[in-house]
Amino acid sequence: MGRKPSTAIKPSCDKRDCFANESGACQCLRNNDFWYRKDKSCPFYKSRAEYEKEIQRLKEKGPIRND
Ligand code: SF4
Repeated sequence: MGRKPSTAIKPSCDKRDCFANESGACQCLRNNDFWYRKDKSCPFYKSRAEYEKEIQRLKEKGPIRND
């Protein structure tokens, strides 16, 4: 089973080095118009290098335990 891939139109984005950018489109947001921010920049931007570093850090940290 699993989730069906979304067929929604992805918003375009010029931050090509962002982890969520694929062929000039954002793969994780439905709307990336941050008109209310002073500089109108996306608050979720993260370079692929930063993203990989964060993933590595979380892998080293291990699973979250509730005991
Ligand atoms: S998360 Fe923000 S910066 Fe990254 S691709 Fe999406 S809209 Fe662009």
